[in-house]
Amino acid sequence: MTAKKTVKKTKYIFVVGGVMSGVGKGITTSSIGKSLQARGFSVTALKIDPYINVDAGTMNPTEHGEVFVLADGDECDQDMGNYERFLGITLSRDNYMTTGRVYQSVISRERNLEYKGRCVEVVPHIPMEVIDRIKRASKQADADIVMIEIGGTIGEYQNILFLEAARMLKNMHPQDVFFVLVSYLPIPSKIGEMKTKPTQYATRTLNGAGIQPDIIVARSDRELDEKRKEKLALFCSVRKEDVISAPDVESIYEVLLNFEKQHLSTNLLKKMGLRPKKNDLKDWNAFVSTMKESQKTVDIAVVGKYFKTGDFMLSDAYLSVIESLKYAAYSLKRKPVLHWIDSEEYETNPSALKDLKKYTGVLIPGGFGSRGIEGKIEAIRFCRENNIPYFGICYGMQLMVIEYVRNVLNIKDAHTTEVNPKTENPVIDIMPEQKKNIRQKNYGATMRLGTYPAVLKNGTIARKAYKSKEIEERHRHRYEVNPEYIARIEESGLIFSGTSPDKRLMEIAELPVAKHPFFLGTQFHPEFQSSPLKPHPVFVEFLKACVK
Ligand code: GLN
Repeated sequence: MTAKKTVKKTKYIFVVGGVMSGVGKGITTSSIGKSLQARGFSVTALKIDPYINVDAGTMNPTEHGEVFVLADGDECDQDMGNYERFLGITLSRDNYMTTGRVYQSVISRERNLEYKGRCVEVVPHIPMEVIDRIKRASKQADADIVMIEIGGTIGEYQNILFLEAARMLKNMHPQDVFFVLVSYLPIPSKIGEMKTKPTQYATRTLNGAGIQPDIIVARSDRELDEKRKEKLALFCSVRKEDVISAPDVESIYEVLLNFEKQHLSTNLLKKMGLRPKKNDLKDWNAFVSTMKESQKTVDIAVVGKYFKTGDFMLSDAYLSVIESLKYAAYSLKRKPVLHWIDSEEYETNPSALKDLKKYTGVLIPGGFGSRGIEGKIEAIRFCRENNIPYFGICYGMQLMVIEYVRNVLNIKDAHTTEVNPKTENPVIDIMPEQKKNIRQKNYGATMRLGTYPAVLKNGTIARKAYKSKEIEERHRHRYEVNPEYIARIEESGLIFSGTSPDKRLMEIAELPVAKHPFFLGTQFHPEFQSSPLKPHPVFVEFLKACVK
């Protein structure tokens, strides 16, 4: 018997931004993807970032927001985290590209004589490489529908080659490529009227790149009225029902429900010639309802740095941590209230530490460098001594171990060689195999990045949380707990409840519940594997201790 071979016609939906950035292209991409997935299609997503950086690893989080880490170790934009969380899928480095990456592969291909002596040009070779990358990602995911978000705003020089790639792809597959323009409609306070003109210009500019939007997602403070919809339809050559009103909503998880009220997925499927197989947003709806109905609060202090930029406080650098705290809190029907604390405050004003008692739990997320470190260590000590639930992630775990060694084992100069390379007691140190890379300033090669397995000890909080002996978690760090101190630390009560399978690397440290309600740190980043419909077990365990 021969199985009938059907050639899959993949559909591509490009999401581009008009008027200005930061109005929710990533959430629009994720939400549309999720709603199409709910109709029974396999969906994958790609992010295109116009900058030259090859990855997001070296970028300053204050400027760029969080560096998200994929299972394969790729360091990328935080939108990739949104795609994974909304779609519940695992993406790879093939789903992320930057101008730097695209040029790098074209240039190295040229150096390898793969263009066979032809003149290699910006056009068409750069857009062709972009298209190859999109197709590779779609093939790898075996996706029915590929969502592609082009970073930046129409009209910038930076993303023009990506728009050219999109135009070329549409030209190759006219029936299979679609465009969503996410644009902003301002309401100038002196005029008091919502203005469509900037979006009309954006559409014209997009037209100038040879692209006509199929859908316009109209972002604004308020709901779009009929008159504005008609105007946009008339001047931007779309149907009125293709103009989607996207007012500000309280939470990013509601955006999708708002789209669905306006039949966006049905509309898109019709355009794509696809018949929906189901309509299953039950779990998503339930999540949003719990989120809205949760009344009782849980107060968590997040002690970190990177918060201030000029007069603004920035929490984007910890986006995945914030979202993971929310999912865990909502799963317990609690409304999370997060408090941002700059750890440097404890260095200048130690009496502020006692304010930590106001919170039901304290979390210290990952970080690098020496700023604010002593303040963090003091906060950890305060939590340990006062039975305040403490959750340390990556640096937050390393500092927890340092605090323990300094104050319980009484080794006062215990430190990480990241901050004090000359310490007599390098409790946190580079593994010998990494030292050579550091000496050669080969920093890119010195991080432990991406997914690694760990095994958990019986009878521990970790084991109880995961309900499994073996786990896999994502990493992004250079330093490790120094094996020379492990025996001494464990003898004095802190348990390494999770280790690498060969037991060389310490993955989770915790105090037994008999000694402290929750004092636990993970060397890995659990926040990269938490989603609304699947809150991460360690975050849930932490929140349980907080609400107790
Ligand atoms: N700075 C620490 C290290 O490199 C921790 C990194 C992190 O928190 N992501 O090991």
